[in-house]
Amino acid sequence: MVARKKLGGALGEMFKTAMQRPVTESYPFGRKVVAERFRGRLDIDPVKCTGCSICEIVCPAGVITMVPVGMKTIGSRQVEVKRPSFELYTCISCGQCVDDCRFGALTLTHDFELAVFHKESLVMKKALVVDK
Ligand code: SF4
Ligand code: SF4
Repeated sequence: MVARKKLGGALGEMFKTAMQRPVTESYPFGRKVVAERFRGRLDIDPVKCTGCSICEIVCPAGVITMVPVGMKTIGSRQVEVKRPSFELYTCISCGQCVDDCRFGALTLTHDFELAVFHKESLVMKKALVVDK
């Protein structure tokens, strides 16, 4: 008697949900729309970056390393020029570097597709090739 009642309940639930739209999304066939303030993959505009190193200092996850890219003459002095390299596989998208970059070089994009076969694919070095 109890089993029949349970079966009836299950069938009722089945017919009810069969008439509804699916609650899951057909990802990756349909693009997921993220919230406006969603924090995804970090990006840099190499032209805006001055190599000030603030992002490296404030990052709590050790994502950023300043890399020497050449020398620059300032007055009578030769100074080393550095630019940031990012190991994005350890980035927690906290946004600290974005907030503290005074030159607006960093942004957190809406890109959430960070699955890769080799983590080296998530090392962002595009700021290292800018000729200043
Ligand atoms: S990204 Fe911004 S904070 Fe980082 S080195 Fe460049 S200018 Fe400085
Ligand atoms: S978003 Fe946060 S964890 Fe990622 S690089 Fe910037 S400061 Fe580091």
